[in-house]
Amino acid sequence: MSETLAAALAPLAEVAEDPDAYVVRWKERTGGKVVGAFPMSFPGEIAHAAGALPVVIQENREPDTHGRNLLAEFYCGYTRNIADSAAKGNLDIYDGFFLADHCIQLLGAVDVVRFESPEKPMYFGHLPTSLGDSWTPEDARKMMRSFVDEMGEFAGAPVTPEALAHSIAVFNENRRLLREIFEARRSGNAQFTAEQMQVLVKSSMVMDKAEHTRLLRRVIAEAAEVPRDDRVRLYLSGHFSHAPKPELLRAIEDCGALVVDDDLFTGMRYISTDVPEDVDAVDALRDWYLQRDVNLPCATLVQHEADWEDYLLNSIDRSGAQGVIVLLVKFCEPHMLYYPELRKALDERGVPHLLIETEHEGVPEENVRTRVEALVERIRRNQLVRS
Ligand code: SF4
Repeated sequence: MSETLAAALAPLAEVAEDPDAYVVRWKERTGGKVVGAFPMSFPGEIAHAAGALPVVIQENREPDTHGRNLLAEFYCGYTRNIADSAAKGNLDIYDGFFLADHCIQLLGAVDVVRFESPEKPMYFGHLPTSLGDSWTPEDARKMMRSFVDEMGEFAGAPVTPEALAHSIAVFNENRRLLREIFEARRSGNAQFTAEQMQVLVKSSMVMDKAEHTRLLRRVIAEAAEVPRDDRVRLYLSGHFSHAPKPELLRAIEDCGALVVDDDLFTGMRYISTDVPEDVDAVDALRDWYLQRDVNLPCATLVQHEADWEDYLLNSIDRSGAQGVIVLLVKFCEPHMLYYPELRKALDERGVPHLLIETEHEGVPEENVRTRVEALVERIRRNQLVRS
């Protein structure tokens, strides 16, 4: 990587490494309010249109102490870390919280936040999870309307349709640029490591979007075409709600593999879908929510026309991935329930794959390396047999 590209990437890496520091600096600089948005379905455009900074709340690197007692051991690492952060006062930097509910464990974590920060506004909305029913579009529209109204109350002034339309355009532009980089990676350009791709998306979840877009343009301007190499091409699938640890991504690519595509939340899932700009803004947010599951199906939602395994197989074809690593947040119920379908589809197609469960408490790096090396070796042998 050139020095100028590394320099362009550095401010984004700094934010991804320490999101809280960015939030504190943003508040000092602007005097504005910060909305802590719980993943994965709350549209940040609404908070942006209210003049607030929407931040997708990130797992931190601190060992959990209080969180281990506040939620049961079988809650996922993300939710226990949120509970831990709330108990330690780490979430005090947020002025309020918005949640578009999608799973029972997240609800438990949000209850802890509510208990620990009773003075902070907490807005909880339930978007329909069954997306194919006749009443779904209207229910989703009502929920989006209600998010907009509550945000107006939180900010102290109604969110106008014009502000919402502007924010939608700002967010779309940011997603479009990020997708450009994902497309380059998919087509064989290995300019960015998996860890750096995560930096690009994670920083977008935290930063002011216009500022992030400016920095992203610099990164794109400095990026150069690189020749395709002969590393084994892998696809990363899964990992909802928070980012896999950078050392895990590093360990995977250290084994002679190249990550060429993903459907991770801190990856393609976050940027898969734009909000339409040619219809009423609330309808557009509803359409974004419904379309996202078509573009990139999610195990937390039900829609008979959209299957994650079909999406995965098509994505593998599109990216030329030779194998898949499924990253499963330990105890993530929706993913655990869906995983057998994915495994069956991959087995039927003969795609080599590996399941790695992740926890908040570190990565067993040596264990991961051994298993990924075995996967890479298996793929190389298959290649030799076929050639
Ligand atoms: S990682 Fe899974 S269990 Fe945890 S909050 Fe997300 S969807 Fe729920």
